[in-house]
Amino acid sequence: MPQDIQFTGDFDVSTLPALIPGNWYIGFACKQCRQHFAILNEPTGAGGLKLSGRATFRATCPNCEASGDYSASELKQFQAAQGGPSSTA
Ligand SMILES: [Zn+2]
Repeated sequence: MPQDIQFTGDFDVSTLPALIPGNWYIGFACKQCRQHFAILNEPTGAGGLKLSGRATFRATCPNCEASGDYSASELKQFQAAQGGPSSTA
């Protein structure tokens, strides 16, 4: 069964501080350093959500501290890598 989340509005989001390896998250790829960071837990645990909407998210990358505006179309679902925060998903 398809599951989707539609985001509407403007959000100031904070990033999740600690990712559990193997868990799925929703976040963005930083426009500056390209690292993925998470803003939400991915509720299906499988990365199979359909994400849509016209939302704007204002987020600050926890790696390089670049802040930026991201759109819902830039949302990424990714699985936190095993073995350390520096891996890209
Ligand atoms: Zn960054």
